[in-house]
Amino acid sequence: MIDFDEAVRLTPTGQYIGGRFIETGRTFAVTDPATGDVIADVSDASAEHAAQAMDAACAAAESWAATDPRERAEVLRRAYDLVIERRDAFAAVMTLEMGKPLAEAQGEVDYGAEYLRWFAEEACRIEGRWSAAPSGGGRIITMKQPVGPVYAITPWNFPLAMGTRKIGPALAAGCTVVIKPASLTPLTMLLLMQAFADAGVPDGVVNCIVTSSSRTTSDAIFSDPRLRKLTFTGSTEVGQALLRTAAGGVLRTSMELGGNAPFLVLEDADVDEAVAGALVAKFRNNGEACTGANRFYVHRSVADEFQEKFAAAASALVLGPGRDEATTIGPLIDADTRDKVEELVADAVGKGARVLTGGQRGDDGAGFFYQPTVLADVPRDARVLSEEIFGPVAPIVAVDSDDEAIALANDTEFGLMAYVYSRDVGRAMRAVERIESGMVGLNVGKVSNPAAPFGGVKQSGLGREGSHEGLEEYLETKYVGTAF
Ligand code: NAP
Repeated sequence: MIDFDEAVRLTPTGQYIGGRFIETGRTFAVTDPATGDVIADVSDASAEHAAQAMDAACAAAESWAATDPRERAEVLRRAYDLVIERRDAFAAVMTLEMGKPLAEAQGEVDYGAEYLRWFAEEACRIEGRWSAAPSGGGRIITMKQPVGPVYAITPWNFPLAMGTRKIGPALAAGCTVVIKPASLTPLTMLLLMQAFADAGVPDGVVNCIVTSSSRTTSDAIFSDPRLRKLTFTGSTEVGQALLRTAAGGVLRTSMELGGNAPFLVLEDADVDEAVAGALVAKFRNNGEACTGANRFYVHRSVADEFQEKFAAAASALVLGPGRDEATTIGPLIDADTRDKVEELVADAVGKGARVLTGGQRGDDGAGFFYQPTVLADVPRDARVLSEEIFGPVAPIVAVDSDDEAIALANDTEFGLMAYVYSRDVGRAMRAVERIESGMVGLNVGKVSNPAAPFGGVKQSGLGREGSHEGLEEYLETKYVGTAF
């Protein structure tokens, strides 16, 4: 039996700077989106605390870069073990502050921890090259070195995994880090800092700033000329502003931004499998995933069957607080997110969409619940098709050909994720090749995997996280020319 209150009580509330938790004298509240209740008050960082965190990261940079890869690997591996050992506490805190069902929070602990284990293994696989210059008379030698101090900013929707998939590769590469989680979900990251401290990560190698004024604290970090890299996961709008700021210091950047994933059900798809995949791709994480299916393009010949089965499956989901065992879909993160979902549904219905299930708030106003919703006959100009919904709403559009589905899929400034369902491997692969996205789920509703390169094209981002590509984001290449 998980003790939710005890898990929160044991979570640190201070800034983690130079290996110590520091209270700042000011606090801000963290609330449970299922009830609106305050679950904890955490210390609030100012620009001075952010500058101190940068000082700590810079002071530790040289010795961490010179630490043997095996030692870096082992400390990451110990952190992995501790996160897994503390699985219930992480899951409880995450469910309370973010709202996802407990089983999904437990899944995120395993997934998030895996980035620490994967990059512990990668730490010993950093290699350069040696070759003869084509015209003779010299050698071309390249070596990989850590980029330098990193500033990492993470969103609230995956409070643990979005942190470990940045800190894991940064530490493996020999970089030090200042991380700033979203103010809506700082507790999970503070719990992770405790695990790093207990795992023996040297002081200053990882630092965490929690703040209610992201811009002020971030400006203090960006103004430090020792900063070498920004890694950001969040909305495209904030990402664009941060890219402009990062240009000032010509920082290396990795940007994981918004999505608008199309879900294609081709004429020959196995409809039952497509429905099962759609349920995961749409409603996982309360519908608040950057990879979440945002628009369904279904061949007209199977549209009725797909719609009917998908709506039945969606209406069987159990909406409730994440901490209740029966819950399969939790509340949205806050009132603004819930109001936006409501607005998008109203816009679509006003333009002629039909509500097959859901379409209403799911509570009396204390929490931020919205019913799992399936919309059919959604007109092409409905906002729900072009904007990131970030909620449990599935708009379906019937199409007449693969070409039409692919053209609609690509008609967006985003390009993170796409899903294709078809039983014909050649047909499916032709569609996969033509879709403009960084990732495609082929007959599957979820692809996240620490050993795979995660990331987007177009305005969904720059760079990749996870896999060996994820490590490269934290490495510079140095070329040495020789006279021999
Ligand atoms: P967000 O509003 O962009 O916030 C993301 C982070 O940026 C938070 O830590 C936020 O801090 C911080 N932030 C906001 N304004 C800032 C500023 N001016 N200077 C410095 N930091 C600032 O996004 P969100 O609502 O948390 O997350 C949802 C978005 O993330 C969606 O668009 C989703 O698609 C995207 N996402 C993308 C991926 C991916 O891998 N591509 C993964 C997950 C989520 P505060 O909240 O404390 O202000």
